[in-house]
Amino acid sequence: MPHSPAHQAIYLDHHATTPIDPRVLAAMLPFFGPKFGNAASRSHRFGWEAEQAVEFARKRVAAIAGATPRDIVFTSGATESNNLAIKGVAEANASKGNHLVTVATEHRAVLDAVRHLERLGYTVTVLPVGADGLLDLDRLRAAIRPETLLVSVMCANNEIGVIQPIREIGSICSEKGVLFHCDAAQAFGKVPLDVNADRIDLMSMSAHKMYGPKGAGALYVRRRKVQLAAQMDGGGHESGLRSGTLNVPSIVGFGEACALCSAEMLEESSRLGGLRDRLLRQFVAGLEAVTVNGSLEHRLPGNLNVSFAGVNAETLMMSLPEVALSSGSACSSAVAEPSHVLRALGIGQDLAHSSIRFGLGRFNTAEEIDFVAGRVVESVKRLRAFTPVL
Ligand SMILES: *Cc1c(COP(=O)(O)O)cnc(C)c1O
Repeated sequence: MPHSPAHQAIYLDHHATTPIDPRVLAAMLPFFGPKFGNAASRSHRFGWEAEQAVEFARKRVAAIAGATPRDIVFTSGATESNNLAIKGVAEANASKGNHLVTVATEHRAVLDAVRHLERLGYTVTVLPVGADGLLDLDRLRAAIRPETLLVSVMCANNEIGVIQPIREIGSICSEKGVLFHCDAAQAFGKVPLDVNADRIDLMSMSAHKMYGPKGAGALYVRRRKVQLAAQMDGGGHESGLRSGTLNVPSIVGFGEACALCSAEMLEESSRLGGLRDRLLRQFVAGLEAVTVNGSLEHRLPGNLNVSFAGVNAETLMMSLPEVALSSGSACSSAVAEPSHVLRALGIGQDLAHSSIRFGLGRFNTAEEIDFVAGRVVESVKRLRAFTPVL
């Protein structure tokens, strides 16, 4: 990797992960020390103390989702929650149907889970999105068949921050009698979500996307309605839906992270939206040919995904070693490929290779944003001087 972390003072990659809030860390620490009990131990104080802490966290997670605490299943994060939701529904309902519907811009954990089911004989419809990144609701309605078991649509996208019309999708699914799973890893704690008002039957959450620890998350399961097959066999923890000793410190941190997000959501989202707009304004004022990828209106307040025409994103990031950013190209392979999300928006190769994701978060300041804006404008100008394609 070309970037040296030691020089990266400004963190603008909050869609990849968020720093742990010091208040979350403080809540977790006793559970790495004297409160080490196993929440499944029923015969002594150590176990009771851990169980109590887990149940308190469960209430806090449920509260911000508008859910009943017993419908919250703790997992290792949104990847596991997505797998449990999709494979678990497909397996438990195989006698009722074999079709699933999802969207081209979903996270890999959803797309790869449905691919896995396809290999087992299920049929999957992957719906396209418009240039704004939004799903067409008429297309969704038309894709649902009598044998459809599940519709899986994310709330906020992890690359472009675009927020799908969850409440409308929920009401279409409920009208058609199919289950609705929502990957809310990026949205949960940042935008209001309510499993009842939004008619969500299953919802994936991840603590480390909301200032909590890595390796903790949850799946909301509307138990009265949803038949779900566990994907992990064992001691029958989490009412049999997810065996394995509970990660008590991380679950406690997840609960604290939820309470903080809930208390600060309104104020924080307007603050972040203000900073995001401030960043974009400076790009537009200082540069030609800046395009925002995906709808700006239906978007997470902390997300800005922009292409600087004529400038390679990797080169731009290398010229900004003091800022932690991501590009729209996945460099997991030797050759950088434009992401499946940008391709789904129909963005051309060149603009896709020029895409940078600015992911703002809780501890970013206006001073940082102004500094980054200045540095980006200066770098883009300099790089464009070498490649006069405009
Ligand atoms: C991060 C993310 C995931 C994966 O979550 P983990 O907790 O890291 O496994 C899934 N979906 C979306 C939209 C994400 O942003």
